[in-house]
Amino acid sequence: NFTAEVVPQAPEDPLFGLMRAYRADQDPKKVDLGIGAYRDNNAKPWVLPVVKKADEILRDDPELNHEYAPIAGITSFTSKAAELILGGVDSPAIKEKRVTSVQTISGTGAVHLGALFLARFYTGKKVYLSDPTWANHNQIFSNVGIPIAKYPYFSKETRGLDFEGMKAALHGAPEGSIILLHACAHNPTGVDPTLDQWKEIAEILRVKKHFPFFDTAYQGFASGDLMRDNAAVRYFVDQGFELVVAQSFAKNFGLYGERAGCFHVVTAPAPDAETTIARIASQLAILQRSEISNPPLYGARIASIVLNDPKLFAEWEDNLRTMSGRIISMRNALRAKLEELGTPGTWNHITDQIGMFSYTGLTEPQVLKIRSDFHIYMTKNGRISMAGLNTNNVDYVAKAIDKIVR
Ligand code: PMP
Repeated sequence: NFTAEVVPQAPEDPLFGLMRAYRADQDPKKVDLGIGAYRDNNAKPWVLPVVKKADEILRDDPELNHEYAPIAGITSFTSKAAELILGGVDSPAIKEKRVTSVQTISGTGAVHLGALFLARFYTGKKVYLSDPTWANHNQIFSNVGIPIAKYPYFSKETRGLDFEGMKAALHGAPEGSIILLHACAHNPTGVDPTLDQWKEIAEILRVKKHFPFFDTAYQGFASGDLMRDNAAVRYFVDQGFELVVAQSFAKNFGLYGERAGCFHVVTAPAPDAETTIARIASQLAILQRSEISNPPLYGARIASIVLNDPKLFAEWEDNLRTMSGRIISMRNALRAKLEELGTPGTWNHITDQIGMFSYTGLTEPQVLKIRSDFHIYMTKNGRISMAGLNTNNVDYVAKAIDKIVR
């Protein structure tokens, strides 16, 4: 029987628990800084105008039907997804046909498929995750039996990158370890290596024959510039690494619930790279078949319409700038207000960090107090989703932080 000994009660997912508590809160001043989803200046979800257009195009298509997608997904989507993260058709990996791409259940499914593939074909290795990282990384890799280790990432002192700690750990890891890297806009810290630091990281990975596993969930959403946000991945590919990429279109298209994502394998340059990639694709197809059989169509169709039409693509870039621009202006506003209030501590990290999140440095007791006293919701590690801030609530949040840290 499924007694409590056999199936014990599992804890609620902390993030979704936080959302529930927020919804139940009746206070009109409540502020949601928890979930990593974009909100407009009125704290409402934003359907990208370009997504609305693509949706109309899709609905007007008389040929539209609901047949199964191919196992690896729709290639008009996956090929453009690869170009997007690898930097276009001039990427050496694309030119030399060293890429295979599989459409997945958003970024989570891509990380999972990648983990499953490595568990099967890259055995006996540990995966090194940044400390801290997106909490789901731990569960996904554990689920497929890949042992987990950590590398230092965030410095509590500078609220920036602990670069020395990171390098030392990567040096110390057993040769051939899997190293999970956030391509841009690190979740939860908002702290990214500079391009020079990426070059040093790449050099360590090369020397130690480590395997790079990129997770990219915020391309274009972070800086507003798609090519800037994929610079790390492009650099590693240019250096001839064999690597994998898990790619999400949840944030940059605002397609959270539609689960549009992609998993890419790039093999190292070699005369037989094309046959290697075909073998890899054949194995990925078998894994995909047993897991989800065929990926969902709607989100991938929307993204595909935009990615394949230069005019819509330009409009998408404009929408990305709207989202990233509003977030950057909220970073500036929050920092300015805290400094104006003379709030104890330094607040430059709010504007130094990039992307959806800021690691405020608030402690767990402070997080709980700001929730009970001010109805402001953030995760226990002090991470705030910048998209939850707007011109109506940023002063209120700054004043609350000021009161809490004094
Ligand atoms: N990786 C990271 C680092 C993320 O922050 C996210 C989104 N929270 C994902 C992957 C994937 O999310 P999704 O499955 O919604 O695409």
